[in-house]
Amino acid sequence: MKYNISNNGYYGDFGGAYIPEMLYPNVEELRQNYLKIMAEPSFKEEFNQLLKDYVGRPSPLYFARRLSKKYNTKIYLKREDLNHTGAHKVNNTIGQILMAQRLGKTRIIAETGAGQHGVATATVCALMGMECIVYMGEIDIARQAPNVARMKMLGAKVVPALSGSRTLKDATNEAIRDWINNPINTHYIIGSVVGPHPYPDMVARFQAVVSEEIQWQLKEKEGKTTPDYVVACVGGGSNAAGAFYHYLENTNVKLIAVEAAGKGIHSGESAATSVLGREGIIHGSKTLLMQTKDGQITEPYSISAGLDYPGVGPMHAHLYKTGRAEFISITDDEAMTAGLELSQLEGIIPAIETSHAFAIFDHKKFKADDVVVINLSGRGDKDLQNYIDYFKL
Ligand SMILES: *Cc1c(COP(=O)(O)O)cnc(C)c1O
Repeated sequence: MKYNISNNGYYGDFGGAYIPEMLYPNVEELRQNYLKIMAEPSFKEEFNQLLKDYVGRPSPLYFARRLSKKYNTKIYLKREDLNHTGAHKVNNTIGQILMAQRLGKTRIIAETGAGQHGVATATVCALMGMECIVYMGEIDIARQAPNVARMKMLGAKVVPALSGSRTLKDATNEAIRDWINNPINTHYIIGSVVGPHPYPDMVARFQAVVSEEIQWQLKEKEGKTTPDYVVACVGGGSNAAGAFYHYLENTNVKLIAVEAAGKGIHSGESAATSVLGREGIIHGSKTLLMQTKDGQITEPYSISAGLDYPGVGPMHAHLYKTGRAEFISITDDEAMTAGLELSQLEGIIPAIETSHAFAIFDHKKFKADDVVVINLSGRGDKDLQNYIDYFKL
């Protein structure tokens, strides 16, 4: 496999497990068992049943007639926004909670920035009756009050991270500290295709249901399983990994990853990792990340909290370096405009993360008979206040 992960946990030059020795037993236990557990018929059956009855899968593949007409190409939307909890993230948290159960764990920890992954984790912990602790920077707790309330209502304990900049990376440090102290009974649910091996691969496999469905849905609608393009926004990269997964090795299918350029790539307020990032280690894996000359992680910025991450997962670093995926950076203004356009052309209000993917049409021209699938990663309910402030609605 040229683009997917190798047996030693690397995507080309990227990936691996760069972790403190005290974390090694936890990660190693997961590494030794995850593929075996995922291959068990009883695991697959329970995972698929929950995706169907609890999440509401398969999510529709919808032909966007008016949007297609406007850009003179054939645009299909993969409706992850219709999942329970409103985004793709729950595909992964369902998979990981079943994994945790099979490993005999009784306690779940997670870290969250904007709170979306925290909510998806608290949701599946309620579903399974498991203890749930979510670490969150003190600043983020103040900024993301509705998601904090959701997590509490779902029965999770939200613990503030009080050190450093009191945001996502500090919450991550707290979660890692917790895991080192509770190696036996605790599973750490990571929310994107980031972290030490095997997390990026495990999360990609749970999200791969997205492209698995696109294949047969497109066959029904277009008579072929392969589109010409698959487009997805990238924060850490999990919704893109899921939408790309079954097409990674088929280079007839072109992949487009859309990053957040914030106020402009070179404005100093951006999250365009492919352009600005250099090789380094973040969250236990070798990948591309935004850093100072001395290797300190730079604070990213995007209007969308879910794309506001200083790195990308190692799969995407590899797709970028090899040229397998084209990376396009979209500013806040372009994303907001595209979100409004989708709302008014198709009656679908997207998450602001997702809006970035819809802004590519001013950067890239498609042919009239191209089939373009856009992964509609989430719905915009959570972002309504942002849209209100921006458009003065
Ligand atoms: C979290 C989130 C993202 C970004 O995360 P990825 O791991 O890159 O997919 C994108 N869209 C939505 C709706 C999200 O909630």
